[in-house]
Amino acid sequence: MIKLLAMMCLFWLGSAHASEYAAVSVPMVPIKVGKHSYYVQGMAGAASSANQGFMSNAGFVVTKDSVLVFDTLGTPSLAAELVKKIREITPLPIKRVIISHYHADHFYGLQVFKELGAESWAHKNGQGAVDSEAAAERLTQRRETLFPWVDENTKLLPADKWLDGDTDFEMGGVHFLLRYVGPAHTAEDMAMLVKEDGVLYTGDLVFRGRVPFVGDADSKAWLTALNKLIALKPRVMVAGHGAASLKPQQDLEFTRDYLEFLRKSMGQAVANLEPFDEAYAHTDWSKYARLPAFEQANRQNAYNTYLLMEKESLAQ
Ligand SMILES: [Zn+2]
Repeated sequence: MIKLLAMMCLFWLGSAHASEYAAVSVPMVPIKVGKHSYYVQGMAGAASSANQGFMSNAGFVVTKDSVLVFDTLGTPSLAAELVKKIREITPLPIKRVIISHYHADHFYGLQVFKELGAESWAHKNGQGAVDSEAAAERLTQRRETLFPWVDENTKLLPADKWLDGDTDFEMGGVHFLLRYVGPAHTAEDMAMLVKEDGVLYTGDLVFRGRVPFVGDADSKAWLTALNKLIALKPRVMVAGHGAASLKPQQDLEFTRDYLEFLRKSMGQAVANLEPFDEAYAHTDWSKYARLPAFEQANRQNAYNTYLLMEKESLAQ
């Protein structure tokens, strides 16, 4: 009887983690982009029950003795699926997790890796992000739109270690260059270069083949960050969304040039005390007008930049 109980207990312990999370049915295929480096690519569009929240990318790096994960996807269920995929490649322990920034689609899977004993790192400006009102609202919303993959057991976890800024380290013979690239998309943006592979994971700092969404980002700091990434001379770039780029310099320079163009044209208008509508109407947008998301994003980007340039000129 005792033996039977012990066996049941072992069975329960063994299956507890795996059964805790609702399974996903979306396809997730690791893509190798370097000797040690991989990523999985989320689907296009916003998080929905159709894509089960799989609309952002995550990376992982297999070293001689351990695995490092970059971003944890948008639900614990997706993270559990990612662990399964990693396990098809290597049995080595998942030792460290880097969170590029505290947006739902990049850190909701963190609890799964913590249960496996991984240590999580993020930039210190992300401190308090999980306790904010905005984070609580987002969680309530995701528990509705992404149920059962996000439910009452989904936890918003802080990092185990808050980084001060650029951090270089070695793990199992592979060298990692973590770069602080905020405040741009968020205050805590971190990017990571896998030195031996020339693979750069950027989080949401870079948009590929489309007009970026600028929002209320500080484009001056964003430009500084892009130049920092360009100086790393990556061979391959994995952004937070979309397919990996084999022409990272070109993509980084595209985002940089667009931001520079916005700042130059809108800065000129502000200096001439020209109203926004007039300035927008006579700016030559032809270089960007045919790109995806131009209709949805460009006018708002220009307007936000106009306001920012006003603020910058007043601060001088
Ligand atoms: Zn984001």
